[in-house]
This record gives sequence, structure tokens and C-alpha cells, in this order.
Amino acid sequence: MDSGDTVFQIEFSNSRQQTEISLSSLHHKTLEFLEHYAKPHLTGKNFAELVGEGSGEVRLARLLAATGFQNDAGGFFAELTRKLSRINGGENASVEVNSVEIPSLLCTALLELMMPGDKFISIKDVAQFENLTNVTVPGSERDMLQEVIDTYPVRLSMHALRQMRVSRAVGYQYAPFVQELDPVGQVNTWIGQFHEGLLEQMYKNRVIFLLNMSCPVYCRFCFRKHKDLRNQPNPTPEDVLRAVEYVRNTPTIKEIVITGGDPFLAKKNMMTAIDGLKEIPHVQTLRLATRCVSYYPHLFYDKDRFWLEYLKMKSIELGMKGKRIELATHFIHPDEVSIQALDIIGELVSNGIPVYVQTPFLKECNDRGPELVRLFSLLRGAGAELHYIYIPCSPIQGNSVYWAPISSGLNVAAHLRAHLSDRVIPRICTATPIGKIDWFSSGWAVEQDESDEHFIWIRTPYTPGFFKDFADNVDAQSVVRQNPEGTLDARFMAEIGDKSCFLGKRSKVSAGDQENHMDSLARFREEALQNQKIACSAVPVGSLRIARPHETRVELDTGGGEQELAYIRDDDRITDVLITSETDAIDRLHEAGLLIEEIRRMRHVNAVRLRSVKFNYDPGIYTGAVISRLARLNSLNADSPLRLEIETQFLHSKEIIADHGELASRLRRHGVTVYSNIPLLHGVNDTASEIQKTAYTLRSLGIEFHHLYVAGHPIQRFWSRTHPIDIPDVSDIASRVRMEGSGREIPRYIIMTELGEVDFGLTSRLFRRNGGLAAVLLPYDLEY
Ligand code: SF4
Repeated sequence: MDSGDTVFQIEFSNSRQQTEISLSSLHHKTLEFLEHYAKPHLTGKNFAELVGEGSGEVRLARLLAATGFQNDAGGFFAELTRKLSRINGGENASVEVNSVEIPSLLCTALLELMMPGDKFISIKDVAQFENLTNVTVPGSERDMLQEVIDTYPVRLSMHALRQMRVSRAVGYQYAPFVQELDPVGQVNTWIGQFHEGLLEQMYKNRVIFLLNMSCPVYCRFCFRKHKDLRNQPNPTPEDVLRAVEYVRNTPTIKEIVITGGDPFLAKKNMMTAIDGLKEIPHVQTLRLATRCVSYYPHLFYDKDRFWLEYLKMKSIELGMKGKRIELATHFIHPDEVSIQALDIIGELVSNGIPVYVQTPFLKECNDRGPELVRLFSLLRGAGAELHYIYIPCSPIQGNSVYWAPISSGLNVAAHLRAHLSDRVIPRICTATPIGKIDWFSSGWAVEQDESDEHFIWIRTPYTPGFFKDFADNVDAQSVVRQNPEGTLDARFMAEIGDKSCFLGKRSKVSAGDQENHMDSLARFREEALQNQKIACSAVPVGSLRIARPHETRVELDTGGGEQELAYIRDDDRITDVLITSETDAIDRLHEAGLLIEEIRRMRHVNAVRLRSVKFNYDPGIYTGAVISRLARLNSLNADSPLRLEIETQFLHSKEIIADHGELASRLRRHGVTVYSNIPLLHGVNDTASEIQKTAYTLRSLGIEFHHLYVAGHPIQRFWSRTHPIDIPDVSDIASRVRMEGSGREIPRYIIMTELGEVDFGLTSRLFRRNGGLAAVLLPYDLEY
């Protein structure tokens, strides 16, 4: 602060806490924000247009003029800080200066000056809570809220506290509330695990390491707030070594989910686990779970960016042994997405560490659809993969305000399919007491429980035999029953909402015909290589060089030019451009590169995909020069993201060889993801064992299995007429992949139609028509 600087005295309206802040620091912070981050995806279109292009100075001048403070920065900041001192995340959390809404990311940047610090704080009483949040708790609620704080711990980071000031959706997740005293709900929601020390096992191929029992922030919807869980003693490094030994002696374990609480708070345990597991030959992937990316990003920057640098170093070490680190994190609402979070994700992904996101579905927070569209689009630009939406969130005691009916989650799935890039749509799953299911493929709602209306029965893919090697008598528990087809149903606490979602029991299905048409594989390969343009336009686009299969996506031929680019430029709903060529996009990389440089200027597009069937059939075309070029075309960052991905196609597991894994790994080190789509072909790949093998092999080589096309893919349009897929096979395939594989192996089961893609079962309904099957497409109507 220089001696001539103006200093504002600030008093927060409810808490009466006081602070002072210099005009120069506010000015500097705002200039920096406007110069780098005043982009439509971060600030909203209106604000970005209002400040326009140019330097921070130029943009600030426009902002001052628009808010009535032309050439009066002092007046503007006096008014803005006055407004910021009054908000508390209540109903009116937005900040306006003379009718101009100030973006929440700019508000939190300025709150970093007004409420500085990076620590996290345990809250012991109501008065402390009020001081930190600027909230006034009514007299009638004070005693009850104190009881909540005494029963369930409250912990908040300064980062979360700042976000809570400008967002109700953030406060809703972390601030205590009196309804937490409601006893309805469970304390423990699962039974299917084997436990030994810090190790839990619920699936054959993966285990969980619980390295730390507490979190820097407690989410009010999470079971971790219950005392018996958070008060368990933390394991020691010796305990960690014992768990590592168990993994060493159990060759079926391929993946380890390292979690807690937050495992990054137990540094020694984390380092012991990673160093121990990296030496075990059969271990393929370490999945490190933390929510700090969202609510405590400082963790990654602290101590000279220790964890960021450590993860990058370990990723290289594991990569040299053919293994992988992934970071798993949670985001629930777009208001949680900070510049720091986007930077962390972008940096990790650019250095070969995939970051995947899971999202609990919370009533009155993210249960309508548009919030999730915005959330997932923002995260995707930085390089994240969207993995699961959990419907509903765990039904535990004290979180019933967050419970939403199953049917509202399913409705949101249709909204996402209509308005979000197919690459960003997570799997919609429920974590039953014996394991996860994916709605309408590996599991579904069977019926209401007759004895208690709070429960429903869910069909799962798991069988009694599945658990026999690692968890005793799961099928003998009262919350489990065997159904006529031989799999287990789980009793689950949830409201179904729409009763038509109950699908009933499935009787035992006889295996369909076992024809073998492997001799056709070579023909399919030739067809795939000869014409890689597969999309048809759902709407007229006026050019044969561009197709519009979805609201958010176009397929652009490498021969496209100004007319096609103008089409993309003029429609800001388009977020994804898939570049194709009749031969292969990599064969036309020069032309593709020129198009990408033009697309980069279009702020609404945040991903470009290159279709390359030759990734499978001719990986040698990916020379060092090609990979370097692809790396340069990929930009994962907070302010101007343009993510690059390679789309390929495998038809059978025997096509996948080690070279593909090496190539995917080289691309991943530059943050370039490779994913595969696969059409299901009767007699070629339509058995549960074949698809499971393909899923496993792709996962082990670091290639994402994106879509399994059940019907409608060009190769299927002719083949399936004479060699139709048996529809029950799809459930059997989905069940096997879910039961035997990693959750990260599971594809989306898709029907491609001329009006758009839909998920098998989840966003479509099949019915008989004219001797065949037709589908109702739930995401799309005439208005769409
Ligand atoms: S959701 Fe994760 S971060 Fe939040 S309290 Fe639970 S374990 Fe901790």
C-alpha cells in the first residue's frame, strides 16, 4: 500500500467484523481478473460483452462507465466493497453495481483481499459460525444449531467461506442447518465389504485404502460427519504397509482407490501407499480421491506446490512401470468451480494425470439440469472427465433435505443428453448396499418394498458367487434377495418418484444363438477405413462438409472452409467440433490444424475431436512429429480452453495390442485423451465375455471406452438387419462389465438415430412396431 493510497474501512453487516483494504490492491486484483478471465464461460456472456476485448485497463474503463463511475475507480470500489460486506450467500447472493451484475468469480477474487487466508477452521459454536459467514441465526434456532454443531462437526476452509458469501449453492453444501437433527435415515449405508484395517473391498478387482479419517471441510450430505466414522484413529504407515502386502498377495486386484476423509492430509501414509503399490506388478491404476480441488485448492499450492509436483513426479515413475495415477474429485454445482480448481485440473491432465469428477445429486442444488450442463462444460474445458452422478446422495441420518426422488435424477439424464456434449455425460448410478448399478443397463428399480414405503428394491448385476472370494454371506443379509434370473436385488432407501420407473423382475433369459461371424471382421475393418464420416445431420446445415448430429456438436470435414466455420461461429450452443475425413483426420492433420486455429477463436467451442480409425489399424501414422503437433493443438487452461481428443474405433478385443497402449500413454502425457466407440455386432462382439474383455483391455492400456453402440451405427444399419442383436444381451453385457470391471471401464450404451443419440433404457423406451423395434427418444421433442 503506498502512502497516498486510499484505504477503505469495511465492516461486514451481520458479523460486525472489521477490516481495511487499499484501493490499489482492489484495483490491481480487478485488472488482473478482467485481463485474463473476463471470458463468457467464466463470467457469463453479458458481462464478457460489456467489458469487451482488450487489456485489463481498457476493460475496467468500460466497466466503470457501464456502472456510472466513469473515471472514478474509487467510487466504484467503495460501492462494490460495501455490497460485498453485506452478502452472506442468502437468497440474494448476487452483487450488482448500478444494475450491472458483478461475476461471482470476480467477487471471490476481491473477497480474497477482504477475507484473506487459506487455512481451514473448525467451528465450535453459533457465534463463531455467524462471524465467519456473515449470517445471523434467528434466536429460535440458536440452541438447535448449537446441537447440530456439537453432534456433527463443522469445518470450513477460507476458500469455501468466500465462495459461500456469493453462492447459496455452496453454502447449502457446507453450512450446518437445524434439520440435520432429523433422525430419519441410516448411519451405515453399505454391507458388501470386506474390512481389514484401513482396507475395504467391495469388488474383486479393486480395493479402497482409507488413509485419513477427517476432511478439511465437512460436506453436510456425507456420512463422514458421523462421529463413529470421523473419530476412528488414523492408520499408521505400518498399517499402510500391511494393506500393501494384502494387495501384493491378491493378484485379482488391479486398482486401488486411495481415499479417506482426505488422504492428502496424511502425507506419510499417502507416500508410503504410493511407493509400496507402484512396485506390485499386477497393480494397474491408483485412484487418489480428494475434494480439495473444489473446496481447498490451497492444498495443491501449499509448500511450493508440493502435491502438484509430487503427483507429476510419481506419475512419471508409475508410467515407467506401465501404471497410472488418476485423481478423483467431487464437484456438485458450477459455483464451486474456481480459477484455482481449473488451473489444478488443467495442470494435472496436461502432465498425464487424468482427473475424473463424481457428482452427488442434491435436491434444490443440482437437480434440474442446467446447473449440471454448466458445471460439466466448465470442467471439461480444463480436461476433466465426468464419471458418475450419484442418484440420490447417500440416505444417511441428518441429510434428508438433500434427497431427491430417483425419477428426478433420470429426468436430468434426458436433459443432459439433449444439451450437453456426449463426451461430458457421466454415468447415472446408484450406490446400493452391495455395489453400484448403472440405471437401466446393469440395474433398475424392481418394486416398492412392501414392509416400508421408504425403501425400494433395486436389481443389481451382482450374484452370490461374486462375493464368495472376499466377503462372507452377503446374500444372506436381510437387505438382499436373489431374484429369478439369479442376480441379487438390494433393498435401498429412496423414493422412486414416478412409479412407472419400476420395471419389475426379469425372468431367467436363455442365451440367444451363438453364431460366429468373425470372418466378417476384415470386411468391417475395410468399411471403417474407407469412410470415417458417420454422422447425419438432425437439421439442415447447407453444406455437405459439415453435419449437425446434436445441439452441442458438429462433424466437420477437413475440407471445410469459411462457410462451415461461419456456421460454427454463429451458433454458441456448439461446444464440440469433431473433425473427420473420409480417410483419417490424422492423414489430413495440416488441414485439421488450420481449422483448429480458427475454431480456437470461437469462445463457445471448448473441445475438438479428431476421428482416427487408423489409431487402431495403422498406429504407425502417429509419428513423433504428429504427436508434437497434436500436443501443440491441445490447450487445457482456465481462460481459453480448447481440449483435443482422439476418437477411434475397435471392433474386437483381438484388435487391441500393446502398441495402442504405448501410443495412448504418449498422447496422455500431453493431456490428449484417446477414446473408443464400438458398435455391437452380432456374431462378432456381442457376448458379455467379449465386451468385458474389450473394456478391461482398453482400460489397462489407458484408452477410454466411450460408447457401445447398441443400434444405429452405420456398420449396424445393414448388418443388424440380418444379424440382429438380442436386446436382453445388452443387460447381460452391462451386468458383466459392471460386476467384473472397474467403474472406469463402463461405456455408455447408446442408440444412434437420425434425430440424435439416446442411452439404451435410460433416455429411450423401446417398443414393437411393424415387426421390428422402435424407440421413443426422451431427450428430444419437436421444440428441441
Ligand atoms: S464428501 Fe468427501 S470431502 Fe466431503 S465430507 Fe465426505 S469424505 Fe469429506
